Amino acid sequence: LKRLFYKMTENTNIANPGQSSENPNGIEQVSEGVFEETLLESNWDEVVETFEDLGLKKLLLRGIFGFGFTLPSFIQQKAIKPIILKKDIIAQAQSGSGKTATFLISMLQNIDHEDLKLQALVLAPTRELAKQIYDISAKIGYYLGTKSHLCTGGNPVIEDKKKIQEGLHYLVGTPGRIKDMIERKILSTSYLKMLIIDEADEMLGRGFLEQINEIIKVIPPDCQICLFSATMPSEIVKMTTKIMNNPVRILVKKEQITLEGIKQYQLGTTNDSSKYDALVEIYANINVNQSIIFANSKEKAEAIATKMSEKDFVVSCIHGAMEQKDRNQIMEDFKSGASRILIGTDLVARGIDVQQVDLVINFELPTNKENYIHRIGRAGRYGRKGVAINLVSSQEVAYMLEICDFYKTTAKPLPNDLGELD
Ligand code: ADP
Ligand code: MG
Repeated sequence: LKRLFYKMTENTNIANPGQSSENPNGIEQVSEGVFEETLLESNWDEVVETFEDLGLKKLLLRGIFGFGFTLPSFIQQKAIKPIILKKDIIAQAQSGSGKTATFLISMLQNIDHEDLKLQALVLAPTRELAKQIYDISAKIGYYLGTKSHLCTGGNPVIEDKKKIQEGLHYLVGTPGRIKDMIERKILSTSYLKMLIIDEADEMLGRGFLEQINEIIKVIPPDCQICLFSATMPSEIVKMTTKIMNNPVRILVKKEQITLEGIKQYQLGTTNDSSKYDALVEIYANINVNQSIIFANSKEKAEAIATKMSEKDFVVSCIHGAMEQKDRNQIMEDFKSGASRILIGTDLVARGIDVQQVDLVINFELPTNKENYIHRIGRAGRYGRKGVAINLVSSQEVAYMLEICDFYKTTAKPLPNDLGELD
């Protein structure tokens, strides 16, 4: 049953009702009690302390050291080994802890460079994240001469086609475009050995499940599946039993997901106007390197950008309704430090890695608990310190409490003297 795709049922929040009739081969979601709770616990302890001890290819090691890494992070010490051993894996680790290199190093190690066939596929939920992953893979894999391509929406299909036909070892992309390439018979998945899904809980959630299922349906039965995220809700872990073969599980308890290094605060506000005033106060009083302000809609993101510009702040704004070339430029400017305040939607909540980000502001609380973790995790990358400030309206107070309770964390009241924050 390993590769059967899910039947989407109504009684689960990952379900997409109305789809079930289209999935005649699908299997029923197994009800709660059938699963052993132990499925939600880690089952892999081995730690490999150095990159050398992983027995990696010389040219790969050179790429890793050349990229600036000296020692593997905790998740790299744990998860690279089982992936190289070709095991399916569900790997959870806190934001900013080096999951990207975990799967990229493992992938580059396992690709047979002598064989120019598509052997690995990496999927990410946004074009921006796919590009970031692709760029890192090119750097870490620099000496290996691997053939690869970034395959996402927003780029010309004709270029994808050309690249794919020239021959590739791996692809990094977004599910929509990859599925499209498969359906057009441009992309063959027959030789795939690895399917890597970053932000896996998002990718197996409502918005992407259908596309991911289409891809999973066409991968070879023995293709290794590797799932990564900082958040792994138990429903998602349970779902994966349908597609994974006795996976290694490296999981983090809910109360250990928030990072010590990110100080969380909340400020009670009455309306948007008082939230704007708070933004001005915050930037006037805190030394900020780079920051991201999150809104829940493109309209709100743009409204914040307009307000901030009126107050003479230099800001940039990003959301999914913008032209791809503008999105690329905004990301490039933010990554290079040319722009310092980014206002965005959940488009940039997950995965985006800018080490200089030391402040995240939730102008509005995210609509799901997981994205709270991902948003604040844009600060405090790889053990750095960061601050997260939540501007909480009276309607949001209960939800703020709920989030803190869920992750057993606290968002302290923002002190009057903002100088006390750093
Ligand atoms: P995650 O996906 O777990 O949120 P990333 O993979 O984006 O985290 O990595 C976060 C940051 O940590 C990146 O800037 C990355 O370059 C850095 N990093 C990852 N692994 C190492 C390592 N072994 N040594 C030093 N820095 C690392
Ligand atoms: Mg990541």
